[in-house]
Amino acid sequence: MRERVGDPIVDRLIEPLLSGIYAGDIDKMSALSTFPQFIEGEKRYGNLYEGMRHLRPEQRVAEVGAKKVGQFASLKRGLKSLTDRIAERLERTEIILNCSVEQVEEIDGGYRLLTNRSDIDSERLILTVPPRLIRQFLPKVDSDFLAEMKPHATATCSLVFKEGDIELPFVGTGFVTSQEADVVITACTFIDQKWPHAVPDGYHVLRVFLGRPGADDIVEASDEEIVATALRDLGGLMTIHRKPSQTVVSRLRDGLPPYAVFHSDRVRALRAEMGRVYPGVLLAGIAYDGIGIPDCINSVHEQIKQMAAQG
Ligand SMILES: Cc1cc2nc3c(=O)[nH]c(=O)nc-3n(C[C@H](O)[C@H](O)[C@H](O)COP(=O)(O)OP(=O)(O)OC[C@H]3O[C@@H](n4cnc5c(N)ncnc54)[C@H](O)[C@@H]3O)c2cc1C
Repeated sequence: MRERVGDPIVDRLIEPLLSGIYAGDIDKMSALSTFPQFIEGEKRYGNLYEGMRHLRPEQRVAEVGAKKVGQFASLKRGLKSLTDRIAERLERTEIILNCSVEQVEEIDGGYRLLTNRSDIDSERLILTVPPRLIRQFLPKVDSDFLAEMKPHATATCSLVFKEGDIELPFVGTGFVTSQEADVVITACTFIDQKWPHAVPDGYHVLRVFLGRPGADDIVEASDEEIVATALRDLGGLMTIHRKPSQTVVSRLRDGLPPYAVFHSDRVRALRAEMGRVYPGVLLAGIAYDGIGIPDCINSVHEQIKQMAAQG
């Protein structure tokens, strides 16, 4: 990117947009695993600008074969409606909630999950836990990739304002900030503008993101400090007449993994190694095949197909 469009555009436009989605250093990120349409567009039209001009979203799907579902998705009745619906539709399935796997042991013909409840024996496993736990559970896998897959922690802070208590600075659904900007917040979504169904009339809800790759100490700060930081930074960008009537802070410590150069090759190598040393154990989820929920659903589907193909 730097060679093609120059540092100012990368630092002030591309880096804030991409690193808000993909954690990690933009200079180490894999274009192939994150935005393959950039590469495809450049190849096809001779340079990046022409490629981007031609590859409008609908063409990306049709021409480049990009996934038909958007990279990020949300649901009208909230994400819980997804898990509720899955639970309703599953047959011949036991769902065990609040069950933490503490270790995985090899046993005759399969594996034993040692949990905080009871042990679970299984011939095969699809593991969707964070990479740090894969290393702990399956130590025979010698993978630099897993060791380097340190997710970047994120905090979000939702601020509820009564109409009139805040003046949104522009018509839109939110903004991202540049590393060069003198703020801690990395992005802000105007929820009532982006998803009007989610906010009752007469309110503005702002969801603020905090914690940059390599600078995520703020995530461990107290709720009060996170809210104060968010309000201070927002105060420099818009007019806040009164404090929010409600605030909710969430922390995602196993947040977004870095997708570095050669990501897909390394995932392929890891899965091959896993198949050799732990036959019947498959890996799916945010660390491997894309970071949005649709990507993760596809990731699990693919692994189920693999498992079925193994007989
Ligand atoms: C701030 C933020 C905003 C996002 N917004 C969107 C969005 O708007 N739309 C979108 O599509 N995607 C979004 N994403 C990405 C989305 O969160 C991921 O795609 C998705 O959560 C990844 O699913 P996963 O199951 O792979 O991992 P996770 O959701 O991280 O699930 C891993 C699970 O493993 C469990 N676990 C951990 N340890 C153990 C253990 N020892 N035993 C048993 N279970 C364990 C955890 O409790 C957790 O439930 C966002 C991500 C972040 C960080």
